[in-house]
Amino acid sequence: MSKPIWVVGGGLAGTEAAWQVASAGYDVVLYEMRPARMTPAHTTAFLAELVCSNSLKANNLENAAGLLKEELRRLGSLLMAVADETKVPAGGALAVDRHRFAAGVTARLEEHPRIKVVREEISTIPSDQPAVVATGPLTSPSLSAWLQKLFGEEYFYFFDAVAPIVTRESLDFTRIFAASRYGRGEAEYLNCPMNEEEYTLFWENLTTAEVHQSHLGDEEKRYFEGCMPVEVLAARGKDTLRFGPLKPVGLIDPATGRRPYAVVQLRPENREKTLYNMVGFQTNLRWGEQRRVFRLIPGLAEAEFVRYGVMHRNSFINAPRLLTAALQWKGGWPLFLAGQLIGVEGYVESIAAGLVAGKNIVRFLEGKPPLIFPRETAVGALFYHIINAEIRHFQPMSINFGLFPPLNVKIKEKLRKNRALAERALGALENYLRNEGK
Ligand SMILES: Cc1cc2nc3c(=O)[nH]c(=O)nc-3n(C[C@H](O)[C@H](O)[C@H](O)COP(=O)(O)OP(=O)(O)OC[C@H]3O[C@@H](n4cnc5c(N)ncnc54)[C@H](O)[C@@H]3O)c2cc1C
Repeated sequence: MSKPIWVVGGGLAGTEAAWQVASAGYDVVLYEMRPARMTPAHTTAFLAELVCSNSLKANNLENAAGLLKEELRRLGSLLMAVADETKVPAGGALAVDRHRFAAGVTARLEEHPRIKVVREEISTIPSDQPAVVATGPLTSPSLSAWLQKLFGEEYFYFFDAVAPIVTRESLDFTRIFAASRYGRGEAEYLNCPMNEEEYTLFWENLTTAEVHQSHLGDEEKRYFEGCMPVEVLAARGKDTLRFGPLKPVGLIDPATGRRPYAVVQLRPENREKTLYNMVGFQTNLRWGEQRRVFRLIPGLAEAEFVRYGVMHRNSFINAPRLLTAALQWKGGWPLFLAGQLIGVEGYVESIAAGLVAGKNIVRFLEGKPPLIFPRETAVGALFYHIINAEIRHFQPMSINFGLFPPLNVKIKEKLRKNRALAERALGALENYLRNEGK
């Protein structure tokens, strides 16, 4: 009899991973440190506690988050089944009764004959122990220190200070030009030029926009000292941004033949250049305010934000550097990672990571090739990005249609296009599972 597989962390990813492993006929020990040791965000002893909103986002297939849920249902996700059982009315979203959801997942795991739930903080993992680590954005300090040592300090992060990400197809290219400063290297950057009037309007709105009340502790405040939110920088004086992230030097707008008054630069976020990051725009503005104010930037009037800027505590690793496509550590032993710790962002994305890591550790132990889902599927597109993102600029990501390979036909209308992407995804998943079954 093989020894039980450890799953460390009984959050969204860990519970899903434990369920997948146990369902495949293997014994699991699921370690959860609560309630003896709580995180700064959890308040109960339940497994799979939702730390904030009770919404798992959109439920319809025209939305990438809805598609991801549907794929997880088809892949036998426990957490999606419990979410469907405990849902509450929420329009087009899937929202759950958080108490019934967490209690339901906890009961299903505790009742499973192959799962033993142990309430204990884990600080190290023996090197021959098959394990899935899913300790989340608030991984305990002792385990964080161990992971940092194992992976290398530079590949384990404690904070997330990211700028918003927009889709390329939502940009107005009549206002934007591609160029690198002083024409050096490839013209990787997209530049949004502003005249004085546009800059003034933007600056006035930025400095008066509503900010998210920060809950940062002293450690976080110290960390973020070197990484100023764009609105704080702007508040220092009207020209501060023009000498900082919005400096126009070395750039000539081909439309005017002149250097613009200020320039917002966008840098590609993925290799396919379907997503762009707003350079220097880490921010604490409320999400609605980000949409309102940043859409004043020329070329961004219709921008679709697939991720808003945030500055918060978040433990995550550099997945493209450290993990294989199976979500296994490249270092060798059967150590798999899942959840927000691998750089996905969001409840459902974390569940998806738990499902993939759980299924793949079983396949690894059985000597089978890993499940690597087609890129046309939501689950495939998400993990393809996480594993293949640029190591140097790696930042957490949630599911969005910008991560999918483009369709072979051009469809202009967004809803129809998203529906076509979803149909293609579900077809690709069905096909993949049919061939896997053989
Ligand atoms: C404050 C906050 C609010 C968020 N709000 C939302 C939101 O509204 N919507 C959304 O989609 N996403 C949200 N997220 C992001 C993310 O989706 C969730 O954090 C999600 O719960 C991540 O799933 P996970 O399984 O990776 O981690 P978690 O669900 O946090 O689970 C990790 C588990 O590991 C345990 N643990 C940690 N260290 C150890 C250890 N050493 N030994 C044993 N157990 C350990 C923890 O107690 C926890 O139960 C939020 C994140 C935070 C921090």
